[in-house]
Formats: sequence, structure tokens, C-alpha cells
Amino acid sequence: MASKMSLMVPKATKPRYNSLCSDDELLDDDTNCYESVSVKRGSWIDDFDSISSSQNSIYLPITGHVSAPPPREDPASTSVPVIKMGWLDKNPPQGSLIYQRRWVKLDAEYLRYFDNEKDIYSKRIIPTVSITGVVNVGEQKFEVVTHNRTFLFRAESDSERSEWVMVLKSCVGVSRARTSLDLTFNPCVSYEMKGYLELRGLRSKLYTVVCADKVFLYKNTEDYRLGIGITSIDMNVGNVKEVDRRAFDLTTPYRIFSFVADTDQLKDQWVEAMRNSIAEALSNYEVAERIWAEPSNQICADCSTDKPEWAAINLAVVFCKRCAGEHRGLGQSISKVRSLKMDKKVWTEDLIQLFLALGNERANQFWAANVPPSEALTLNSSSEERRRFITAKYREGKYRRYHPLFGNQRELNNALCINVQSSDVCETLALVFCGADVSCDTGDPELPSPIALAQHHGQNLQLEFLTQNRNTEVPRSEVKVAIDRVHYMAPTSVTHNGFLFKTASMARPITEKKGKEEFSRRWCVLNDGNFSYYESDKNATPNGGLKMKEIVCLAVNPPETHGYDHTFELYSDAERLYLFGTDNPETMREWVKSIAKSFIPAGAEDLLLKDFERIGRLRYKDRLNREMSRLGWFCLVGSSLHIRLEEHTADETIDLQKLLELSIQPENEVLVLVERGRTLYIEGERKLDFQGWAAAIQRAAGSSGDTLSQQQLTEADIPMIVERCIHFTTQYGLTSEGIYRKSGVNSKIAALLEEFRRDARCVWLKEGEHQVDDVSNVLKRFFRDIEEGLFGQEAHSWLSATAFSDESSRICQYRLLFSNLPRVNQATLRALVNHLYCVQRFADLNQMNLHNLAIVFGPTLFQADGKDYSAGRVIEDLIQHYVTIFDVNELQLKKQLDEITYIIKLRDNLTPKAGTGSGDFICTVYLEEKKETAEQHVKIPATMTAAELTFEILDRRKITVKEKDYWCCFEVNEKEEMERPLHYQEKVLPIFHSLGTDSHLLVKKHFSMEAMLVYLASKVEVSKHGMMKFREERSLLGLSTGSFNDRYFILTSTSLRLYKEVRNLQKLQSPELQCSNRPEREWPVKCLKVYHGIKKKLRPPTCWGLTVVYESEKQEKQERQQWYLCCDTQNEMREWFATFMSIQNGGRVWPAEWLKSRAASRSVPLDTRFGNVSLIPLRGSENEMRNSVAAFTADPLALFRNV
Ligand SMILES: [Zn+2]
Repeated sequence: MASKMSLMVPKATKPRYNSLCSDDELLDDDTNCYESVSVKRGSWIDDFDSISSSQNSIYLPITGHVSAPPPREDPASTSVPVIKMGWLDKNPPQGSLIYQRRWVKLDAEYLRYFDNEKDIYSKRIIPTVSITGVVNVGEQKFEVVTHNRTFLFRAESDSERSEWVMVLKSCVGVSRARTSLDLTFNPCVSYEMKGYLELRGLRSKLYTVVCADKVFLYKNTEDYRLGIGITSIDMNVGNVKEVDRRAFDLTTPYRIFSFVADTDQLKDQWVEAMRNSIAEALSNYEVAERIWAEPSNQICADCSTDKPEWAAINLAVVFCKRCAGEHRGLGQSISKVRSLKMDKKVWTEDLIQLFLALGNERANQFWAANVPPSEALTLNSSSEERRRFITAKYREGKYRRYHPLFGNQRELNNALCINVQSSDVCETLALVFCGADVSCDTGDPELPSPIALAQHHGQNLQLEFLTQNRNTEVPRSEVKVAIDRVHYMAPTSVTHNGFLFKTASMARPITEKKGKEEFSRRWCVLNDGNFSYYESDKNATPNGGLKMKEIVCLAVNPPETHGYDHTFELYSDAERLYLFGTDNPETMREWVKSIAKSFIPAGAEDLLLKDFERIGRLRYKDRLNREMSRLGWFCLVGSSLHIRLEEHTADETIDLQKLLELSIQPENEVLVLVERGRTLYIEGERKLDFQGWAAAIQRAAGSSGDTLSQQQLTEADIPMIVERCIHFTTQYGLTSEGIYRKSGVNSKIAALLEEFRRDARCVWLKEGEHQVDDVSNVLKRFFRDIEEGLFGQEAHSWLSATAFSDESSRICQYRLLFSNLPRVNQATLRALVNHLYCVQRFADLNQMNLHNLAIVFGPTLFQADGKDYSAGRVIEDLIQHYVTIFDVNELQLKKQLDEITYIIKLRDNLTPKAGTGSGDFICTVYLEEKKETAEQHVKIPATMTAAELTFEILDRRKITVKEKDYWCCFEVNEKEEMERPLHYQEKVLPIFHSLGTDSHLLVKKHFSMEAMLVYLASKVEVSKHGMMKFREERSLLGLSTGSFNDRYFILTSTSLRLYKEVRNLQKLQSPELQCSNRPEREWPVKCLKVYHGIKKKLRPPTCWGLTVVYESEKQEKQERQQWYLCCDTQNEMREWFATFMSIQNGGRVWPAEWLKSRAASRSVPLDTRFGNVSLIPLRGSENEMRNSVAAFTADPLALFRNV
């Protein structure tokens, strides 16, 4: 003890007792056996100041002292009044004879003594509740007795002594009577945080307790238990500053306390606790006290906790801190959460009065009218229970008392307008939260809104309530709220233990390699949903632990990422990352398995069977449920992302290498995965694990290695790089002499290849920017370098097949070998040979005949030196017998070649102009039906309208057009069995770009046009409402079983709205009123494309169906939905269609002077208007089409630059 607590005496000449500057002086301790005595009675600050330069000291750094003189006034104006204060001598510490002079202060709560009267921070603080007796002992002396320690004081006179004894006794008596004696004698009943902290300059740690608006320092836990402290710090003058990883300063005007926490995680917690304490100290009880004046406001509206300090100012309810967290999760549009104590500015007199008028009792009569006891919250409800209840209560309005007018919008609005003129705010609350529109039209132009009405009638509380709820979302019971069902299926309880190496937890992703020395060996125990780690397997008290249900992600690092060969990371809900390691792969496998098992719910356990590198939960949205995110369990295995989404019964898999798009929206931290037919938005609910997921998914979506199948693939399983190069060469290289034999620019080839390797998805080859010879060499180099080669392990068999002199045996052998190739190799070989076949067909232009190509590609594809011709022989055979070996449909091949011929001819005829960029495109248009004889190839300039295209076709075929012949250009989709007449002013080029391979353009008469025009002419205003049968497209993962259901639709000049609750709506007369009711779904009209027809496979209930495609406008969040509407009669369908068309085109459905406009369009010959033409294959694969479309959408202006 003596050595530990001994003084740090400056080596100077000062006498020992003169050096009260010891760190341990703070711990002025009666049990202390050092002898020193304070002679110099400087304040703490003086002490530390004087010592900071002395060599032997380890006191506060210079920054620790405050240069300004401490204010004399008592810092805490709110503090308890002092009952008595004065100088007393305190008995000497053990072994000493000299009394210590102390300035002693007594108030109702504490007896404190200080070095001198100027000091702010005491050397000892004794709660009066812990004093058990005050006794006179001998001359001028008295004892203050506490539970197990006695303090002896000596007054200057007997009378002085008597006075002290008297006031102390009365004080002790009072506090005794007042407080039921806490066993621990501890005043800090509800502390914010407690634990040991190092105070810089002091060699022993202090037990520190943050409690309400104060921080208490104790020598150790024992003293804390007894309630005998060193000092307390009033936080109303405090300020907390983070210094470095583990250190932080608590600054007051009198002293800077420089604390050092044990870990950086604890540091964060201390800082937060102290900041809360400051907020508490600075908070204003005035508002709270006033709100609490209404008795029901004294307990939380949701869980009944006492003294709730938070409120939703629009809902008029008061709730506790824990419930406030869940209210915040609802968002401002549902619950505007404010503090009674801290948000002083919002609490206007009217708002306070509103809370007294409504308050928890009356608000709950509405909000909680029907709470089943099983769902009600208690003080001890978990966060998840709170979230569920509060969401159901306020977002869904599940427990509310339904207003008799519920569902009748007009009546609700009427009632609101009338009621706001009275003082009955309870009724207004019920009306508004049952759907009455706060901004509805009152019918009075002078007082157009309920707000104006309330103001006019001097109803301030009504006005306050309406104003707070101007933008509130009304509860919607029909909204499917994401109840994290999967989450609640408890995981199996797993037990596992053993040694692991562990680093300190982190709040940042690990980017650097962690050496072995950064790990400590820990005995780890997984049991009953808890993971605990111990100093050793002998210890009974864990060093720390984790609750399994708080784990959100488990990631397995590649071997040798860190000092220990095998490491894994755990991510917690609280944004902490824990790294564990071992050298034994088996140990790691077992831990990973056990941990995953104990946090992945039973419903998603299939994921556990996979050899994942990352597993965990994430919130996601899909295009059908954009409003609210749901919970899903994700696991990443190689380039496959396995997902168990809520409500689905089976796992789904996304092949990340085949994604069409992968992007991160940094502003809201969403990962967008676009696959064919589905888009998934993964949200960054928490930053830390999301960063990990995003990086891992991006990595997995790139090429994962050097073999063919590890490349980023197209849907047809062809490496993206191969497809893009072939596509480009077909467009621009077929007439290039010596294509594939000429070498390009080496540096450019290398750079382009590197670009492709980094992310092929992002490389768009463009004429002008890229040279044909560079691209063709990229393709060759890719095949030459690819690991295992295009022919894989059987390459030698292919080569030896050339030994057969009989051609048909060779072909037979190739066919056999081809069928044995892996999927990706097959698709790639087929695509490549098809391409080479086309190249040699135009050998008269490019000089690359069969033999020439074989010489180039033989050694390339077999990765051989080319000395022996057998490789070339194989390629020659493959090209020559392309049709036989690959079972090619000859008609299709012919068509492909015709198209290429056509492209070449067109390119030939066009004189290239200066400058580059895209110009016109050539497309195939049919007349009346899709058959070869009806085929027309038309060059389409960017400005060409559907009407111009129609005339062009009609002209070519010399068709005479009569006045009532409504010739139209249709976009026909054979696969979807739907068609859409293009509007006469619609530009054809973008349409052409958006066509898939299943679609084509067709010019024919529009037989319904007459009827539609007649219908529209009869309408005064263009809008329509009524019933239709509605069916959704397949759900995100194609699992829903769609069927047609009756829905009520309202089509206005801006939007199409869908309503489920037909019952109430049909009663209403005016569609405008209906519009103010909240629809189940709503789409902007301008984003809809309406087609005639519905796929028969979907079994439409009538033959009068429409297929509607919705495409969001936003570039960054491209979203596409397709759904179906069915009408009872053809007339109905025509009317809906006509209304759509009219709205979308500003009333212009058909040109007024149809025949004249035709003449006008003909006056300018199309061919002379535009110069440079770039070409795309007329019928490529679907991917090629999409690529063109993607290029177009990426830079739509490119098309218009030459115009
Ligand atoms: Zn509560």
C-alpha cells in the first residue's frame, strides 16, 4: 500500500510535507499511511500548475489547466443551498500526528471538504444519507460515523464544534427520514454509466460514475458501494472533447479532467454518457413539469414508464426514451419526436396547452382504443416488441378507434371543417387520423382550408394541431408492414467453446493486415445465444461478450489476410466489428458454423449449408415494395448471392457475374443490383457491415479469376468481353482488310484489355474512340491468355481429331467433344465460330478467308506456337462445318448474313463525313404483317416520327391512303402478345432502340381509331374512372401466383390510381373527391406505356385486355413494372385506351389534317438530310439489343448531335 500510494515528491529542496502536489493527494485517504500533510493550501489547479514542470511528476499536462481564474460564484445555480461551512481540522492519516486543515461544506445532500475555500472540487464527498451518527469526542472534536468509516474533525472552539454537531445531526435526521436507506448508501440509483477510468496524472484508476447531471469520482468500487466519494463534477459547466483513440477531456471552467478509457469502444461510451449528462444538466424541466401537470402525461403513452421526457408533437402523446427511439424510426411524416427538456424552442404556449388538452389519456382513447392485452407493452418490453407495437399503433393505426365516418372522405372532410370551429381537439384528432384531409377544400374562398377556419374562429389549439399535422401520413392498415418474421424464428441454440485469438473491437472496417501481436488469446464460449470471451479457461468472469441476436453479419476472410492464417469477422448491431483468428482451419470452420447457426434464424437455415464467405441480414427493397424495406438474409458464396427474403419459402440466387448493372448510390447508401427481370435495392441500414457487403458483392460481381467461367458473363453465358468485341467487329470491321491479322496499337490493346478485366460491364466500345484492329486484337489476346483455354482440358483431343482423314468422322468427333465442353465454353465457342463464319463470308472485302482465319485463330485458341497446323485445321473445320457441328438453323444464318450484307452495303454507300458519333440506324419495318415479303429496311434519322415512318413505308409500297384509313405504326411484341400504336408524333428511333428481339415495328391500319376519336370528342374533360380487373406481374423472384382481381381505377391528367376498397369509393360521385383518398397504388401517367393485348398464358378473364408497362423516370433508379388490366367490353377498353392516349399527348390523338401532313413530310427527302450513319445489327442477340439500348440511355443526346 505504502509504495503504491506514496508521494511523488519533487526532487527539489521542498520539504516533503510541502509537496501536496502528489497525484495521490486527490485520494486524500484516511486509511492511507503516508505522513505528508498539506501546508500549502493551493487549489487543485494551483497544485497541478506548480508541478507540471517538475521532472518527477506525471501530472496533468499543460492543457489540463485552465488559465482563466475560476469564478468565485457557486457554479451550479441550481445546487442545494449550503447549510454550514467553515475551516475544520481533519484527523491526520494513519501514522501522522499533524491535523489537516480543511474547508468543510455541508448541504442537505453531502458533507464535503476541500483544500481551501476557493476549491470547486472536493477531496471527499460523503452523502448525508450514509452518515449513521455524529458524536462528540473530547475537546473540540467530533466524529462523523458512516457505515464502516469514521471521520474525525477538530473545530477551533467548543461552540463551533457544537454548532457543527447540531446541524449535522439535524441534517442526518432529515435525510434519514426522507430517504429509505439504500443498502449501498449510494445516491446514484440510476446511473448512466460507471466503471474505472484513468485520470491523467493519477497513477491509479478511479471508479467513475456518470449519474444524471453529475459525474462522481470514487477511489474504487468499494467506496462507491459505500457512497464515499472523492468529488462530484457538475455537468452544467462541462464540455466533453475527444482527444485520441482512448482519451477524452472533460473540461470545466475550473479544471480539465483528462480521462483515458480502457478501450476505444469504452471511450465512445463514456463520451456519449457524459454528453448525455451535460444535456441532462442543461435541460429544462420547466416544459416537462408543465406537461406532466396532466397526470396521464406522467407515464409513457406506449409502455407506461414513469416521467416520460419525449413527445410526438403531431400525435400529442408523451413517451419514454426507449419508445422515443422507435417513434423516430417511423419517420417525421408519422411521428415528430421532440424532447420535453432539450427542444426548448418548439414548446410554444399553444403546443403545451394542446398537450394538456389532449395528453396521453385522451390521445390513447383514440390511438389505443383496441389494444389486445397480448400486444400491449410493459416497462420491460424489448426494442423489437416496442418497434412492432409502435409501428402497428401509429403507422398502421391498428388499435385506433374508428370514426363513424371512416372511409367516407367527403363526410370526413366536412366534419373536420365544422369541428375545427369548436374547441373539441379530440374530435379533430380522430377525424384527421381516420383520413380527414387537413388541407381539404372548405368551399369558402375566404377561408379555404380547415387551418384558416380554425384561425378565423380563434381556435388556437385546433390551429396548432392542424399545423403540426399538415404533412402527416395518415395510418394505413392495408400497408403491409415489414414485420421481420424470419428474424423472429429463433435460431437453434448452439454450444461451442475453445481458444481463439481476438483483437480489440473496432468501429471501422479493417483495411490493414493485423499482425499476430495485435491478437490476444481468449477462451471463448458460445452458449445459449451468448458469446463470451475469458482471459483463460480458468477464469469465471468474462472479459466481454456478444449477444448472438445482435450479430448482423459474419464474414470469413480469405486465408492469410492477417497474422493468423484463418480469420473471421463479426459485425454487431451497434456497429462494432470483432476480428477473431486461429491457425487451425478446422477450428475456424467449427466456430464459423456454430456462430452462424446461432444467429441465423431457423427460417433461413438452408443458407448455413453453403460454404459462404459472408452471411447476415440486410434490409432490402424491390420494385414492388419500394415504400418500405424488408428484412432478408443474405449469403455470399463465390459469385452467387443467395437470398432468403421475407415471406418466401425458398432461397433465391443471384449470379452476380451476370448482373446487368451494379451500382452504389452513395448519398443514401443503397446497393442496386439489376438482373434481368428484377432489381434489388439493398440498403445500408448500418454503415459498417454494409460497407463490407458492398465491397464483397462488387468483388464477386467482377471476374473472379482467369478461366472462362470466372469472367463476367452475358445471359447467354458468353464472357462479356467476347461478346462486346464480336459485336463491335461485326459492326465496323467486316470490311476492314486483314481484320484479325493486322496488329493494333500495343499500348491501346493492353489498356483496353485491362479495362475489360477490371469491369467488363462498364466498357462500351464506340466507333471513333476504339479502332477495329485494337478491338480484334483484344479478343485474340483474351483467348490466348485465358486459363485452361477455350477448349479446356480436352484441347489435345480436339487436336488429335484432325488425324481422322474422313471428314464425317472428324465432324462426328468435334460434335462429341463440343457436347462435353463446359457450358460457358460451349456458348463462347459457338458465338466465336459464328462470328468467324460471318467474317470469312465477306472475305472478298476483308481478305480473310477460311484458311487465313484458321492460321490466326488456331494457335490463339489452342494457345500453341503455330508450328503445327493441326490447331488451324480444327478451326478451319469448325468454321467450314459450322452449320453441321453446331446444329445451326440455316434460315436464321441466312437472315443474319443478309442483314450483315445490308449493313455493309449501306455503309459502303454512305460517304463518311468528318467527325464521329452516332447518326442514323437502319431498322426493319413490316407492312401489315410480319413476313419476309412485307419486310422493309428503313434508315431512321433521330428526328423521324411515327407518322413519317408510316408514310415512308406506304410510299415505298405505293399504297393509296384514304381519309378514314387510320394507318399507324405499331410496336408489336410477339412474346408478350401485345401491341401499341405509336403516337403520330412519337420519335421512332428511341422506340426502335428499346425493342427486344421479340418485338418489331409494323405499319397497319388502326381500326379502333375512329371509335376512339368519337369517344374523346364527346368528353368535356379527359379523365376516367371505373372498375377493371387487375393483375400484377410476377413478383420479384417470380414466386407469386398472380390472378386478376377487381380494382377501382381513377385516371386523371397526371396519374393513374388504383383503389382496393371499392365499397366506399363507388358511393362517391366526383372523381376529384375520390382522388383525395389514398390509393393503394399510384403511377404518373407519363411513365406508363399502354399496350393492347395480354399474354394468353396469364388467362385474362376477357379478351379486352391492356398490358401496362411502367418505367420510372429517374436515371439512377431505373425501374420497370408490367401489369395487366382487363375490361368487360371492347368499348370500355377503347375508352380507357383513348383516355390514356389523349392525356399522354395533350389531347392530340390524331393529326387534324392527316393527308396534308403526309404531303409535307414528303417534301424533304429523308436520305439527304443526314450524313454519318452508324449501324447496329438488325437482329443480334437480345444482349446486343440491350447493349445498344443501354448505350442509348447512357447518352441519349448522342443521337441528336449530328442533326
Ligand atoms: Zn415507453
